[in-house]
Amino acid sequence: MTNHASPDHANCAACHYFRPLEKGSGNCHRYPPGFAGETSPKESHHWRFPVVGGHGWCGEYLPRKDGAAP
Ligand code: SF4
Repeated sequence: MTNHASPDHANCAACHYFRPLEKGSGNCHRYPPGFAGETSPKESHHWRFPVVGGHGWCGEYLPRKDGAAP
């Protein structure tokens, strides 16, 4: 079985690019927003940052410089 857990708490919640939305999730700001569809009439809703879970992680992880919550 593959272990997908991040090493040493190197997860999204501790990442420089993470901005919390609500308990347990947030947006990843590593890259510009991606196209999210045109169902909303508001142009600003057509482009979104990815929603990620605080316990997730990826290879672009960067520790927050001050160690504080964003
Ligand atoms: S670990 Fe990866 S997916 Fe998570 S916030 Fe950082 S850059 Fe984004």
